[in-house]
Amino acid sequence: MDSERSSASSQIPSVRICELCRRHLPAPHTTAETLCDACRTKKGRHRVYMFYMLRDGWFCQFLEQDLKTPLPKKLHFKSQEKLWEIAERGGFNMNLEARQSLDHGIEIGRGGMWLDLSEEQYRRLKHR
Ligand SMILES: [Zn+2]
Repeated sequence: MDSERSSASSQIPSVRICELCRRHLPAPHTTAETLCDACRTKKGRHRVYMFYMLRDGWFCQFLEQDLKTPLPKKLHFKSQEKLWEIAERGGFNMNLEARQSLDHGIEIGRGGMWLDLSEEQYRRLKHR
């Protein structure tokens, strides 16, 4: 029986490194994280946190990376399909864990995820 070994190897490694400069990424890690802040800025990417909740349809708000500054753009739509669409377009890492987390959020009616946005996608959130 090697069940013990396989469960240990399926754990997320506690140390993650930037895929460009190989610097260690600061904890806590999020599923979408592959670059350090310096490299993300260099590549013109923006990390944004999307918070969603069920309120007469799905209501979405976006926060800057500091998790304090709200972006002006808010979204409201009827279908949960749109959440998957945003996640995919926003460069969300759609691995099994991420899908389960989004599934769960939809089930309980609220949740959040990190998005890795391009300069243009980010600019659109800066406008109402
Ligand atoms: Zn880096």
